[in-house]
Amino acid sequence: MYTGHLAVGLGLSARERRVAPLAILLGVGFLAVVNGLLVAGRIERVRPAPAGALGFDLVFIDWDHSIAMAAVWSVIFGGLVYLSTRRDPRAGVVGALAAFSHVVVDVLVHNGDIALWPGSSAHLGLFLWRDHPLLSYLLEAGLDIAAAAYFVARGRAAGDRGARLAWPVALLLLLHVQRWPAIDPLHWVARLPEPAADMGYAVLVVAGFAIPGALLAWLVARSRSGGRVAREEART
Ligand SMILES: [Zn+2]
Repeated sequence: MYTGHLAVGLGLSARERRVAPLAILLGVGFLAVVNGLLVAGRIERVRPAPAGALGFDLVFIDWDHSIAMAAVWSVIFGGLVYLSTRRDPRAGVVGALAAFSHVVVDVLVHNGDIALWPGSSAHLGLFLWRDHPLLSYLLEAGLDIAAAAYFVARGRAAGDRGARLAWPVALLLLLHVQRWPAIDPLHWVARLPEPAADMGYAVLVVAGFAIPGALLAWLVARSRSGGRVAREEART
């Protein structure tokens, strides 16, 4: 799952307007960033599978994508948000929820690689990537569209400007389009020899969540300042 995570973040930031969009939109990708770093450090293992929906099989990702470790990392992320927002408890809780939402949404598509805890034999995942790759792509598009509609509706209700609300939506949809396997960078690097494929995976996963997450957060914040300017103009 890729833009589905950012879609959850977009929806959550539309609902939680007092919490900085950056805390939410980096939060939803935090587990993936940890995963990329641990793959680069050879603590977790992925295997190129260019014919698959993701481009890689996730062989061992228990240190961030098991339910127990997702909870631990989410508390850590929420704690970082809490401390960086002058101890705003709501921001901390929302940041932690954003981070934990990652593994919840992943269950929909993952191929049974989400353990309950590190080393647990019990795994979650509905195997949509393996059994219904096209459906998994469309499901993620559906999440994007639903979140975009909610974001625009909440923004308009709060007086934000329509044109600026369109930018985060456009970015989200563009990111989803580039996940189509024929043009997806993750599928390209999966065809490289090892260890370049694994390193390519690590770089793309870290950069692919950190950079678009920050950019999306900036566009969301910008859509709001537009709304404030519009209201001030309306008053004068
Ligand atoms: Zn994930």
